[in-house]
Amino acid sequence: MDQAAKIDEILGELAEVAACPGAYATDWKARTGRKVIGILPMNFPAEIVHAAGALPVTVQEDDAPITYGRRLLHEFYCGYTRSLVDQAATGRLAPYDGIFLVDHCVALLGAVDAIRFELPDMPVFLAQFTASMDETTTRPQILGRIAELRERLEELCGAPIEDQAIRRSIEAYNRNRGLLRRVYEMRRSGLIRLTSRQMQVLVKSAMVMDVDEHSARMDRLLALLEAQPAAPSSLVRLHLSGHFCHAPKPELLDMIESCGATVVDDDIYTGYRYISTDVPEGSDPVAALAGWYFNRNTNVPCSTRAQMTVDWESYLANALEKSGAQGVIVLVAKFCEPHMLYYPELRKEFVRRGIPHLLIETEHEGLALEMLKTRVEALIEVIRRPALTREMA
Ligand code: SF4
Repeated sequence: MDQAAKIDEILGELAEVAACPGAYATDWKARTGRKVIGILPMNFPAEIVHAAGALPVTVQEDDAPITYGRRLLHEFYCGYTRSLVDQAATGRLAPYDGIFLVDHCVALLGAVDAIRFELPDMPVFLAQFTASMDETTTRPQILGRIAELRERLEELCGAPIEDQAIRRSIEAYNRNRGLLRRVYEMRRSGLIRLTSRQMQVLVKSAMVMDVDEHSARMDRLLALLEAQPAAPSSLVRLHLSGHFCHAPKPELLDMIESCGATVVDDDIYTGYRYISTDVPEGSDPVAALAGWYFNRNTNVPCSTRAQMTVDWESYLANALEKSGAQGVIVLVAKFCEPHMLYYPELRKEFVRRGIPHLLIETEHEGLALEMLKTRVEALIEVIRRPALTREMA
């Protein structure tokens, strides 16, 4: 088997896991006899579930049309929360022994209430992490919430979670994030040409699989990628931004790249946002997990958090400088309020700096790809013809 076929084989295995998290979770449970905990995006420290001996699986939006869930949540909730509730209403959350989350927006709170209503026997635990990062009281509050998470997981899994176990889990997740970041670095510097669909598979599967199993595959994949010749490209270099909580549809990513662009970086949740930040090792592990919560927002700011000293638009400008991306496509999930409310700030900065950009709103129900393609082609044309860029700015 040649190298390209070996790469495809690993990506194919990971794509299966990413596409069917419930099937992986069910199989893992049968293999290990341990519990699987569904965790919800975007700030949950998976390490603490892993340290409890359970498998943390980030519950994904799935492709199924929303049916029974319609009676539980209004149509103006985002696709992720409506899909989540539909999964609860149709038995698709059955592989999970509990649902744990850290709050980050009103829609997610509504979805959790609906899950509790629909599945009264499912253990559901919400830890309210303070969104205002600058208050002196925030850090002690977060420490308290993580201690509560630990207690609830100990109850559910039936054994104490030792500090040493949390330290080991932190190391395992840091290693996995480091391997994924290495792929990101190689993509930014043009050493590899993985598509956005393939990058999504890498991150989504990391959200689902046992962390050591995933890292073993990443080790093999990286060795193969590093042995390949560099893959310089004359395509327009783009950065994908936004898309909280769930993955953009792969066909949208394919369409963007089919217009003569290569995506060199992103800050989407099922992308760099998820792997951006390691947890400090060797210290008090609970304090380290709290530190991670703050550090993530400094590294890749999120508009669900409020922090005076960081802003998303400056982050984006720096990210573009580092990657050499020539333009930005902002992907916003329809009815994602924290993102929609912040978008005008991003837009102002793009215009001020003359950064070509495009906003695409995504929906669970599907996308008018042909219409969107015309808009992406127009963006690519603007980037290829700088005079036109200045006019548009
Ligand atoms: S942050 Fe946006 S995508 Fe995530 S749950 Fe809230 S509204 Fe939905």
